[in-house]
Amino acid sequence: MNSRMHSALPVVVTWSLLLGLVGLPSCTSGPKRGDGAIEYAIAIHGGAGTIDRNAPAERLQAYREAMTRALTLGRDMLAAGSSALDVCEAVVRTLEDDPLFNAGKGAVFNDAGQHELDASIMDGSTLRCGAVAGVRTVRHPITLARKVMTETRHVLLAGDGADAFAKGMGVELVENSWFDTPRRRRSLERALEQRDRRGALVPPRDRRLDYGTVGCVVRDRQGNLAAATSTGGMTAKRWGRIGDSPILGAGNYADKNAAISCTGTGEEFIRHAIARSVTARMEFGGRSLEDAAHAVVHDVLRKGDGGLIAVDKDGNIATPFNSSGMYRAMADSRGRFDIAIFADEK
Ligand code: ASP
Repeated sequence: MNSRMHSALPVVVTWSLLLGLVGLPSCTSGPKRGDGAIEYAIAIHGGAGTIDRNAPAERLQAYREAMTRALTLGRDMLAAGSSALDVCEAVVRTLEDDPLFNAGKGAVFNDAGQHELDASIMDGSTLRCGAVAGVRTVRHPITLARKVMTETRHVLLAGDGADAFAKGMGVELVENSWFDTPRRRRSLERALEQRDRRGALVPPRDRRLDYGTVGCVVRDRQGNLAAATSTGGMTAKRWGRIGDSPILGAGNYADKNAAISCTGTGEEFIRHAIARSVTARMEFGGRSLEDAAHAVVHDVLRKGDGGLIAVDKDGNIATPFNSSGMYRAMADSRGRFDIAIFADEK
């Protein structure tokens, strides 16, 4: 230790003591055991995109209420000792049943006027994971994704094979039209009109038509992390298109450092392996969750692409996005309970 460090030491110690005495958090402190460690934490998203601030107040309120219900369910399960995986699945199932969101009931239409659903789930402590892509008849794709994880030796099942697997697993099946909603049909019509005017094969990127993918990331009382994501994809997507949500490492990922669920223009999230990029920056670069998540969303993705929710092993939460809004909700064992949509909300 050199003499400058010697002379600095008493100052540091004095300040630390002082901060401890008056109860102020020091600027480097994460949650620590013994001084109010976070026992459990949860974040949820309901999609990112061009969310209109001037949208009818009742509509924004409906989203806030849906997020509040999902967060309350997850928080209460965690308080009662449920596992991160169970909480992720339960929360995503309720959002899949809510027609406000682009997952399960209320999923967007593809360019053939049908619904093809993608979902994945991952256990951070074991790296076990399961995913389904392009399923058409499964009411809760997240539950089928979990069955892929627990009942097969595979990670990802797609299309007819995934629907056939669902029959054997006894999960609830529905007609494809069961997912229809008038609002998503109007979005399809708008997207197809825009495509016709442009004479292009691919509809223009219009994030107003897509948002509503759902996701949940959790740190449970045992310190385990899990992530789950479910979506109908993007409005008027080419049939057969698979987005980032069922691609582990792209739209969803969990390991011992962090759990991540993404939402936005899926192709970009696949290209840059966004979810794994966050944990890789932590693992190999020693970055904090907040730093790593912020860098990936703001330096790697393009403005307007979307965002992600993330929780680390200490229960810290990050929710960066680069679109005009992201429906999100965050809670933890220290009493945090926040619902937000726009960037200027905490
Ligand atoms: N990421 C999803 C997909 O590309 C869509 C979204 O999150 O809005 O399928």
